[in-house]
Parts: sequence; structure tokens; C-alpha cells
Amino acid sequence: MQIVTTAAGTGGEERAGTVLTIDLAALAANYRLLRDRAAPAVCSAVVKADGYGLGAATVAPVFYGEGCRHFFVAHLDEALELKQALRPDVAIYILNGLPPGAEAECAAAGLIPVLNGMEQVARWAAEARRLRRPLPAVLQVDSGMSRLGLPAADVARIAGEPQLLDGIRLLYVMSHLACADQPDHPLNARQLEAFRAARAAFPGVPASLANSAGIFLGPDYHFDLVRPGASLYGLAPALDRPNPMERVVTLHAKVIQTREIAAGDVVGYGATFRAERPTRVATIALGYGDGWPRALSGRGAAWYEGTRLPFLGRVSMDSITIDVSALPPGLPQAGDLVELLGPHQSADEVAAQCGTIGYEILTSLGRRHHRRYIGG
Ligand SMILES: *Cc1c(COP(=O)(O)O)cnc(C)c1O
Repeated sequence: MQIVTTAAGTGGEERAGTVLTIDLAALAANYRLLRDRAAPAVCSAVVKADGYGLGAATVAPVFYGEGCRHFFVAHLDEALELKQALRPDVAIYILNGLPPGAEAECAAAGLIPVLNGMEQVARWAAEARRLRRPLPAVLQVDSGMSRLGLPAADVARIAGEPQLLDGIRLLYVMSHLACADQPDHPLNARQLEAFRAARAAFPGVPASLANSAGIFLGPDYHFDLVRPGASLYGLAPALDRPNPMERVVTLHAKVIQTREIAAGDVVGYGATFRAERPTRVATIALGYGDGWPRALSGRGAAWYEGTRLPFLGRVSMDSITIDVSALPPGLPQAGDLVELLGPHQSADEVAAQCGTIGYEILTSLGRRHHRRYIGG
């Protein structure tokens, strides 16, 4: 197994407070699982927000290596950066569409906007007229989430005036599901029906609806192209069923110091934890400045091999103090690593402990960790 490491600073793993390990073989396996599940639909990869925090320039080529040629990001700048990391034979789509004035740059770079409203359609069509060549685009329709995309009235308007799309080469009509991670939610079927109705305005244009969770709703939801993000990175497609995805991310933090505290001693900002008995504690080099939620104060935990080590008191910016009394005497020592994400606790589980979702845990990780890419 080849190990590639990149450090935020110059000190490397020995000096890092945390080590974020990203398993590229698991990423590839997750892409294959989703692709096979969605076949014969084409499987794209959503790599917005820097590949859900894991490094778009590193993860996108892994998907490319598995045959992926369609990539989604949210912003033009994300698309321009991603283009540098991939060969030219890919399609890069911009989910949020274009801010006014960015059309020429987008067209010149060969990037594909998702048009989310009539005004965006008009601007892209005008750019095509200016360049005297058709420009590719994806058209998003709102099937019931009320976030982005043309409402039904605008879809009807285009159906009546197809010349509004003159100059635009529509590659896909797409929409997005609001509740796909709750397979029994009635909105799924309602959105499917609304999407089918909207498609009728664009005869012969391929369609795309499913995110990761949507793939698991079954073939009715697959259409021609699926758009998984979260599950590529190991997050569960539905939280009330076993997760079929492989774990991609492991996060370890280093023990900086250990100490014994007495009954009555307090720990951390606000003195929110008071020891009832003599307690062995360790302080680890991870905090909210590393994207670890402060909302886990008093309720999160780290793991040392099979032992759960509860957080004591508040999560600080750069450190957390944990109870290590359950470990044999002498453990852990300064420099030892404890697990924050890994076999004992997934991003989905950590998220559930503090009222958020695994997506937010991953995209919050940020640039402070020493990154170890394995399995490449
Ligand atoms: C983020 C996003 C996706 C990917 O969703 P996951 O739940 O991460 O699989 C797909 N489509 C759109 C429009 C998105 O914004």
C-alpha cells in the first residue's frame, strides 16, 4: 500500500496535533458500489466543498480512475480549480449556477452551469449568441424542495416558448430530492411525480434526480445520471439502516499531557465539569479550531483501542480534556493517538451526538490536520 502524506505545516506527522487519514481505496470501492447500484444510469461524483472536506484535487482523480467522467461542484471557482486536477475529457457542472458577468469565463473554460432560473437561462443564451455557438447547460427544475430550480410556472413558459432555450444545448434536466434519506417520506414519491411532469416539457433531454440517498430509493429514481456525494465519502445513505459504504475517514488526535485531578477539581472553560472522585485526565490536541464541534462539550468522547474516553467539560479551540481513568495505569502517554473518527465512531454517529449531520462534520474538518492519504 502506497502512503502519500501532505502536511499543513512543515513538521510532518511527528509534529502534528491531529492526523486525518483518507482511504483512497475505500473511496474507489464506494464509487463502484454506487455506480453498480445505479447502472445503467451514469454515475457522477459530487466533489463540492473541496470534496466534502477531504480534498477535491485528490479524491476526484480517484473517481476518474474508476471511470467517472461527470463531476459536480457548487461554485465557478471550485470548477476552475477542479479542472486543473483532471484530464480534459470530463464534464464539470456548477450546481449553484453563475453570478452575473461570469458567463464568458465559464464558457471559455468549458465548464457547464446548472441554470436555476429564467434569468440564468437568459444570460447563458445571450452568451451563446455573443459567441455564435451553442453552449452546454443543465437545467434544474424545482420538484418540491423550493431551494433551487425553475418552478412549474417557468417550466410551462419554456414549454410554450422553446425559443427561450435557443443557443443552449441542454445536456440534462435535473432536480434534487429533499427527503431521500428518509425512504418512507411521502415527499419522495411526490417529487418523483413532479419531476416526471416537468420532464415532459423537454422531450428527449436526459434527466438526473438522485443524490446518494436517492440511489437507494430504487431504479425509478435513477433516470440517466445519478449525483452521489456523501456516500462516496462513507456517509450512510439512510440513517435508520445499516451503512453499506466503506469507511473513508479516520481522525486521530495526539495526547499532549496527562494529569491526576482530585475530587472537587474542575476542568476547562466555565468550570462546567467537577470531578466527584480522583480522576486521570488527558488533554488532546483537537478543538473547535480543527472543526470539532464545540457542541460536543460534556457529551463527546474519544476512543483508545476499545475503550471510550468521555470528554470532560468544554471543547476548547485547540484542545479537549478527556477522562482516561478506564485505561490501565500508565496509559495513555503524551504523544499517543486517540481515535475521534474511525471504527469506534463514525462521522454520522458524532453528528447525531450534537444535533447535526455527518456532512457538516466532514466539511468542517478544515486545513489544520496532517493529512495521510492511503490506498492510492
Ligand atoms: C450536494 C448535492 C448532491 C449530492 O448529495 P449527497 O446527499 O451528498 O449525495 C446532489 N445534487 C445536488 C443538487 C446537491 O446539491
